[in-house]
Amino acid sequence: MERPDDLLARLLGPSGPELGCDGCFAELDRYVELEVSGADADAAVPGLRAHLEGCPACREEHESLLALVRSEQSS
Ligand SMILES: [Zn+2]
Repeated sequence: MERPDDLLARLLGPSGPELGCDGCFAELDRYVELEVSGADADAAVPGLRAHLEGCPACREEHESLLALVRSEQSS
């Protein structure tokens, strides 16, 4: 059962810096590299994590990019 506050927050989108799909795709490379290197990616790219949580298309893109960068690193 979802709390109404969560639902409202989701409908209104994340608070703070607004990041749309365009901005998300533009920053995703950098975000993933920071994430893989263990840096604070969320501090470097504010709003991206929130966008991923609300946007299945970008989340999927993020996951495949993350898998790609990790496999490149381990090889
Ligand atoms: Zn998106």
